[in-house]
Amino acid sequence: MHVAGTYGGHTSCVEIETGSPEYVLCDLGSGLRPFGQAALARHGAGSPQTYHVFVSHVHWDHIMGLPFFTPAYIPGNRIVFYGGHAGLEAALRRQQEQPSFPVGFSTFGATIEFVHLEPGTTIEVAGMTVGLMLQRHSGDSYAYRFDAGGRSVVYTTDSEHRLGDPAEAQRFVDFFRNADVVIFDAMYSLADTISVKADWGHSSNVVGVELCHAAGVRHLCMFHHEPIHSDETLSRILAETRRYEEISRTGRKLLVTSAYDGMEIDL
Ligand SMILES: [Zn+2]
Ligand SMILES: [Zn+2]
Repeated sequence: MHVAGTYGGHTSCVEIETGSPEYVLCDLGSGLRPFGQAALARHGAGSPQTYHVFVSHVHWDHIMGLPFFTPAYIPGNRIVFYGGHAGLEAALRRQQEQPSFPVGFSTFGATIEFVHLEPGTTIEVAGMTVGLMLQRHSGDSYAYRFDAGGRSVVYTTDSEHRLGDPAEAQRFVDFFRNADVVIFDAMYSLADTISVKADWGHSSNVVGVELCHAAGVRHLCMFHHEPIHSDETLSRILAETRRYEEISRTGRKLLVTSAYDGMEIDL
């Protein structure tokens, strides 16, 4: 069932709820603004919070929410940015310089910290073990895996997969292994990725199903939808992807969903 506004149109911003009082986010897309308003409504402006933000890469759709993130302007809050890009801080500062935005980065009242991460290493944040992996994308991007208490979530967006490169596919299968949820860049259809949109830096629904099947994942959540797709098209792609999952399945069933603004997934 789809009606106008079924999926919404915000760019990438995902919260990982941990049970810890500290917030954990992936990316700073336009969805960061309503997230910030919701966090303030929950706590009030006078109650200092810590926000851990894991950044996939600094393309604009993944950082554009930061100038509109009200908690960043409130003294007492703490925001820690994590990423594998050496230019992460410079990119976040640059989008708030004149003439792009009237309020500079230095106006933030919150304490701002940056933590550089290296693929192959893990860190402990908010009770979770977090690891990252380099992905093929213009300017590079990083996938993140979050593990705690036997449950795991993978966030992988803006990642181009070369069909026919078994070593690369195996790297992803190992990273996704037995994850409860994989939030996956399924911007294109397979026909797109092997024809007109090869080398455009994104992946497809079919590749998502194949990697998740091989890795024994429970739930594939398709994410980073193609902006020109209507809600009707996204619903059709979801139905087709579920059918593909069914006919290609050799192990356990993989639940397939399509992300929409405000979606919540319980583990
Ligand atoms: Zn990108
Ligand atoms: Zn993107």
